[in-house]
Amino acid sequence: MQTAGEPSFRDSVDLMFNRAVRLMDLSPGLEEKIRVCNSTYTVRFGVRLRGKMQTFTGYRSVHSEHMEPVKGGIRYAMNVDQDEVEALAALMTYKCALVETPFGGSKGGLCIDPRQWEEHELELITRRFAYELIKRDLIHPAQNVPAPDMGTGEREMAWIADQYARMNTTDINAKACVTGKPPHAGGIQGRVEATGRGVQYALREFFRHPEDVAIANLSGGLAGKRIIVQGLGNVGYHAAKFLAEEDGAKIIAVIERDGAVVNPDGVDIDDLKQWLVGHDGLSAGYPNGTHVPDGASVLEAECDILIPAAMEGVIHKGNADRIKAPLIIEAANGPVTYSADEILRKKGVVIIPDMYANAGGVTVSYFEWVKNLSHIRFGRMQRRAEESRSRLLVEELERLSADRGLGWTLADDFKQRFLQGSDELALVRSGLDDTMRTAYQSMRAVWHSRDDVEDLRMAAYLVAIGRVAQSYRSKGL
Ligand code: GLU
Repeated sequence: MQTAGEPSFRDSVDLMFNRAVRLMDLSPGLEEKIRVCNSTYTVRFGVRLRGKMQTFTGYRSVHSEHMEPVKGGIRYAMNVDQDEVEALAALMTYKCALVETPFGGSKGGLCIDPRQWEEHELELITRRFAYELIKRDLIHPAQNVPAPDMGTGEREMAWIADQYARMNTTDINAKACVTGKPPHAGGIQGRVEATGRGVQYALREFFRHPEDVAIANLSGGLAGKRIIVQGLGNVGYHAAKFLAEEDGAKIIAVIERDGAVVNPDGVDIDDLKQWLVGHDGLSAGYPNGTHVPDGASVLEAECDILIPAAMEGVIHKGNADRIKAPLIIEAANGPVTYSADEILRKKGVVIIPDMYANAGGVTVSYFEWVKNLSHIRFGRMQRRAEESRSRLLVEELERLSADRGLGWTLADDFKQRFLQGSDELALVRSGLDDTMRTAYQSMRAVWHSRDDVEDLRMAAYLVAIGRVAQSYRSKGL
């Protein structure tokens, strides 16, 4: 956790923002308009549970409405407070601008430890919280569209969607009031894996540029790279699993709430995840690795890539100097504080910043929202067109080969993949991949073309703030 004497999370985000705007030519009025959080609603509500009235505190912050709806997750955690949701809402504004999803930034949170409540209790609490937000249009398909975040998932989103539908029985677009719903309740394939998948695509794109890889003092591709992951929640789990299974990277350590498991030969992510289901944390003694009780110390271990995928402020001025990873990819929001960022930059560490690295979630949320509004199965029309084109191509190739006696044959598995490569999941993944590549290239162009832009984070801010400013200007502000 962050050490004393450091700026708060929100101040940290604002300081990074200020560092970026110093390199831009924005009018002071516009600069301030973009930086400040427009509004934060706080609600305290009671739910009768376990024989008594329990009071909960929740927030929904709207950072910027330059585009509507505003977008961002709802988190369930004990440390949720106004400062945190405002920082996270600001990051949503910049993230959406960077990956060009047409949303403003928002974020919500409920001060709760979800593990302390039974499922039916969580449903009552979630529905009540949603009720409070819906009443104020802080959940609404055209104005404010939440999504999962730390401590919430498909289940909570389904409850929220149902609560909205009950309160708005004539809204034909009701399903688009929230994203991250289960596929059977209006969700989209690939949303659960999306943020982790995005981290994988971001790293793949980074490693496609040898000059960038060299800046991080690394070489070659992702295969064989030693990775340390902090947090085996939804984001960390999918990122680690895909990088190990599909890119040949080696997950040499996983850090969790109660320590870390280290295995230089590679931790089997699915095996560990399954084992965790039946055990209360790593301290119960996962057999296939060494247990290190002081998890935070493992952030400082030797590796090629460090993936903080848990929470904000874990790399701070108290430990930044001891970090050995030459490349950090921020799968979590705000894992590196402003002070730590300065220390790491001086050491030459390359940081792939949160607003880009974890944008996979909101990107696929955008696909889900569009799918809900269009009232048509995602990709249905494209699929029909693409399928018939693919079939024609296969037939043409085979005919050509037969006519000319070329003896070409297309392997059955290739044909199958080619012809089936356009289902919803494939479309989501390719749309996400495309988004991650394009956004990286826009950051990279600024990073390499301007001498005053030292790092990828500044490049990301410059691109994002530039787009938000443009959108305000085109509104005549
Ligand atoms: N909570 C995720 C984030 O921080 C996803 C937000 C969304 O899908 O709207 O980006």
